[in-house]
Amino acid sequence: MAESQTSSSTLARRGLMFILSSPSGAGKTTISRMLLGADDEIKLSVSVTTRPPRPGEVDGVHYYFVDEDEFDRMVEEDDFYEWAHVFGHRYGTPKGRIRNALKEGQDFLFDIDWQGTQQLFQKDQQDVVRVFILPPSIAELERRLRGRDTDSDEVIDARMERARAEISHWDAYDYVVINEDVGGCFAKVREILDAERMKRQRQTGLIPFVRELMS
Ligand code: 5GP
Repeated sequence: MAESQTSSSTLARRGLMFILSSPSGAGKTTISRMLLGADDEIKLSVSVTTRPPRPGEVDGVHYYFVDEDEFDRMVEEDDFYEWAHVFGHRYGTPKGRIRNALKEGQDFLFDIDWQGTQQLFQKDQQDVVRVFILPPSIAELERRLRGRDTDSDEVIDARMERARAEISHWDAYDYVVINEDVGGCFAKVREILDAERMKRQRQTGLIPFVRELMS
């Protein structure tokens, strides 16, 4: 017991809320998956949505899929940290076990848009880390959006318009990473996460540790 208290590798720390946002097509989903696969200390915060599941999406894994009435009930019961209308559907971050888990040192990854980011930051500035991923150019973003499926020009144009609108919120983030190549972007996102974990105010075990160093 005394030994574990003096070991720097077992110091207690408070978890953080790591937000990744980007216009669709900039690589956020890929980076999120890579991060969750590579790092055991961070878990995805699964959102609640009224959007119907896409093929392959699993309830409770990608989202909790609910109908409009259930979403209304959750809003009334104050079950959300934040919620927003995005592309004609509602999305929200359930409070669930996040608050307690943060105290125990669990980190959470949030794949949410700029509106949700703003609301989460207003509620809990000390735990939130905001990262925005940008595409290297508009031409590349369009290429990625076109490459995804066989949608019509109108659909692609609408997506490009939305992407431009999302990009306009870049300056509400703590970090901005340009996704030139996925490996490089992922490495930078990990560096941000590692550095944020080392912030003095998150390392709640430092006081007893330093006290012991000085005694
Ligand atoms: P999709 O329907 O493609 O999975 O997600 C559409 C958008 O909703 C994405 O920009 C995603 O970041 C955002 N989103 C997903 N979950 C939440 C949430 O809980 N809150 C907010 N504000 N946005 C969310």
